[in-house]
Amino acid sequence: MLFRSGPPGAGKGTQAQQLAQGQGLLHLSTGDLLRAEVAAGTALGQEAAAVMARGELVSDGLVLAIVRSRLEQQAADRQQGDSGTSGWLLDGFPRNRAQAEALEALLAELGQPIELVVLMELDDDLLMQRLLGRGRADDNAEVIRHRLTVYRDQTAPLIAYYRERGLLASVDAQGSIEAIAARIQTLLG
Ligand code: AMP
Repeated sequence: MLFRSGPPGAGKGTQAQQLAQGQGLLHLSTGDLLRAEVAAGTALGQEAAAVMARGELVSDGLVLAIVRSRLEQQAADRQQGDSGTSGWLLDGFPRNRAQAEALEALLAELGQPIELVVLMELDDDLLMQRLLGRGRADDNAEVIRHRLTVYRDQTAPLIAYYRERGLLASVDAQGSIEAIAARIQTLLG
């Protein structure tokens, strides 16, 4: 089991998807799940849309409900002998201290510890270039700057949180998708 983090634009989505597929893990991207809710026009999606467009964090309660239901579903499937996926990879979650603590409690309930936290490191200029190049609705320069501020204020403190727990591994997120994937594979041993 594994979980990854990093600033927006560090390439975590791409790497998370490939890695989860390669290792037979459930890829749980809170950003993807929220975008799907927005696209489907659900009540949850309507609540999240404006917040996402501003580059702020969707409420902890809402995100946690999504993560909890997916992890509980997977645990139930496995108990029934459905071996679809053998673990999970969380992508873009947790994003702040409250989410990290709630995750810790949820995983204790499920008896599923975090094995590793992967931090993808990239300098600000490269981050900006990558984000502007994606062309996603929440990727204009002003919103990106705000997302980076939110990352620095709320998410970056989790680096120390997971380092203290001996779970953190950092990866240089510069270079090609293949080169970064190879670095992550080395970490996994
Ligand atoms: P991402 O695709 O991970 O960059 O997420 C896109 C947007 O979805 C973020 O800017 C937030 O508005 C929202 N989001 C994704 N994950 C979370 C989370 N764990 N907590 C709060 N908001 C989130």
